[in-house]
Amino acid sequence: MNLDWRICSRARLSRDARFDGKFYIGVRTSGVYCRPICPAPTAMEKNVRYFPTAAAAAEAGFRPCLRCRPECSPGTPAWAGTQSTVSRALRLIGECGLVDGGVEMLAERLGVGSRHLRRLFLRHLGATPRAVEQTRRLHFAKKLIDETSLPMIQVAMVSGFGCVRRFNADIRKIYHRTPTQIRALARQTVSQPENQYLFRLNFRPPYNWTAMLSFLAARATPGVEMVEQGGYRRTISVNGVNGCFEASLDEARHALSVRVQFGDAQSLFFIIERIRMMFDLNADWTTIVNSLRSDSVLAAPVRTNPGLRVPGCWNGFELTVRAILGQQITVRGATALAGRLVKAFGRQISFPGGLTHLFPAPEALVEANLASIGLTKARAETIRALAQAVCERRIIFDGIVDPGALLTRLREIPGIGAWTAQYVAMRALGEPDAFPVGDIALLRALDLKSHRELERRAEAWRPWRAYAAMYLWSVAGTSVTRKQTASKAHKIAVDDHDTAQPTYMAG
Ligand SMILES: [Zn+2]
Repeated sequence: MNLDWRICSRARLSRDARFDGKFYIGVRTSGVYCRPICPAPTAMEKNVRYFPTAAAAAEAGFRPCLRCRPECSPGTPAWAGTQSTVSRALRLIGECGLVDGGVEMLAERLGVGSRHLRRLFLRHLGATPRAVEQTRRLHFAKKLIDETSLPMIQVAMVSGFGCVRRFNADIRKIYHRTPTQIRALARQTVSQPENQYLFRLNFRPPYNWTAMLSFLAARATPGVEMVEQGGYRRTISVNGVNGCFEASLDEARHALSVRVQFGDAQSLFFIIERIRMMFDLNADWTTIVNSLRSDSVLAAPVRTNPGLRVPGCWNGFELTVRAILGQQITVRGATALAGRLVKAFGRQISFPGGLTHLFPAPEALVEANLASIGLTKARAETIRALAQAVCERRIIFDGIVDPGALLTRLREIPGIGAWTAQYVAMRALGEPDAFPVGDIALLRALDLKSHRELERRAEAWRPWRAYAAMYLWSVAGTSVTRKQTASKAHKIAVDDHDTAQPTYMAG
């Protein structure tokens, strides 16, 4: 990754939040590394060094700044898509760290040599895989110290330090302070009830929260998800423990405020990473917009509606089931159907705010009588086959090492075609270049006749076609409401290129 120092310098001097997390500044005089938005007085150009990642700054011997808190910066943007080795490695490190076997094992899972992986990391991130993992662990520990009241022994365990002695020693060495002194500095005044955590998750502005919420609201599964008063909340289940979380916008701080209620602190890292993906918090708008704004149809909505994100999902299985339920019917119809599915086969739980169920686990859907909730025979069979494949671990949505292979396996299930697979790639795998080519609303938004024309047009938007799709759906939504009656807008789309025909997404 080549940093253009002139751009970095301009962003640093103007404290431009759009560059937050895209590079870090090592200050030679103080020995700390900062975010571009650091409120501390700006150092002279001759005293600073620019780094592509926090890990690179750490490896060069700089300490994280206590004022701008580099651990709060938005994550590395998926600049090369989910297929690139570095992106896949980062995702795996994000999901489970460097477990036994370390870098060797990570390289093996990715199907590359460990020396090659190291070279790739150094070229793109300026740091070794080991340094990247250590920085992530340190940053998460710092976040838990500052933002929660978890006992330090638990902070050490949850953030993966293994033992308290090492945790204390490392924190002291890096920050020149004990964990307790750091917590006192954070001046946290409100302590949270037991098993509740309040986190602030930063993004690079602009972020169109209203569009994100209205997309999620239309698809919110009754009992499992709820969009209300500017916030989103849902039930979750991780390793047999149930809980819920709620997210709302903290605009002034360029962050989402996330309240997690969960009984096992050990899963907090996973939960936070998943929420970041779900709300597409790592996206780099300034780069994305360059590919989209020269298109005649996209230019206007991109200008008037900046910061649209691609909504991800909490769980890949759940999202795929939702996509299948939505084939050939309206979004509203699919949401009602999902509500019936949850009521019939989801586990009942009780959390405040209308959250009553967990989304059904694959095991619950393998033998389920899905016709009883009004599903067609074909659709019921597709969901059962998917659930079976997940139970037998032929399809695994977590710890994905090869997104292409996952999509191929998904498409082997009768009833899952290219559209559904691309939709899953967009929302469950976070692939920024995924593009549901067969989608009828996309054709209409661009006034095109054939999928081939659409595919040709979309070439210019690479590697950000998923964002283009979000914009086109939003355009289609507004123009359809203007031109047609509501019932017509909800009519069924037919796509002869696909075994699974797409929903009319704009509804
Ligand atoms: Zn700073």
